Amino acid sequence: MSERRDELASRLSTVRRELREAAVDVGRAPEEITLIVVTKNFPVSDAVILYELGERNFGENRDNEGSEKSAVIPPDLHWHFQGQVQSKKIKSIAGWAEVVHSLDSLDHAEKFNKFEPRDFFIQVSTEPGALHRGGVPLASVRDFYSELQRFENLRIRGLMVVPPLESNPGEVFSQVAAEARELGLADLSMGMSGDFREAIRAGATHIRVGSSILGSRQPPA
Ligand SMILES: *Cc1c(COP(=O)(O)O)cnc(C)c1O
Repeated sequence: MSERRDELASRLSTVRRELREAAVDVGRAPEEITLIVVTKNFPVSDAVILYELGERNFGENRDNEGSEKSAVIPPDLHWHFQGQVQSKKIKSIAGWAEVVHSLDSLDHAEKFNKFEPRDFFIQVSTEPGALHRGGVPLASVRDFYSELQRFENLRIRGLMVVPPLESNPGEVFSQVAAEARELGLADLSMGMSGDFREAIRAGATHIRVGSSILGSRQPPA
């Protein structure tokens, strides 16, 4: 157990240092970047250790894992949902997730609007054509955002993206950052273990980091 603690502490301090360095490199204050530790597929004991190491933002992709873990760890932290939203899970997600990073459907927006106000990111897709990984095509984000204005319980903070596999992440991040600027949206949820430094250089305010801190994921049971 304490071996695991040492391992997590050491990986976490590396990520914190890389975050700081990437920010300072481009003249940004490291404090304006929120590190979300993605604990998906890892036990709640890991989340507890990371909590003890000072982390206060955790991310999950699946409702069941998020609701289980959030029930165990002390409440003075922020839970983020970044997985694909399923209509039938919205009520449950609304019970534990303070921030939803993966809004891409008006139908889901309408359902979330029935619960308490919370923060959202619009997930955008830069994949030409298909929508298979979720997200509103970049070209439609402006219309989608204006449609969302009628939902008073949705605080739209910014845009979120996962770069397509064969893309140049730096280019995707800059494109999405430019779109957010045009829309007057302040926040950008982008950057994972492999590309968070580039995301920070492009203006990310929220990075979602899993395997660099927790190790490679076991397949879900
Ligand atoms: C799993 C996941 C992450 C974290 O990915 P790592 O590569 O493990 O850092 C971030 N964002 C989303 C949407 C994810 O699904």
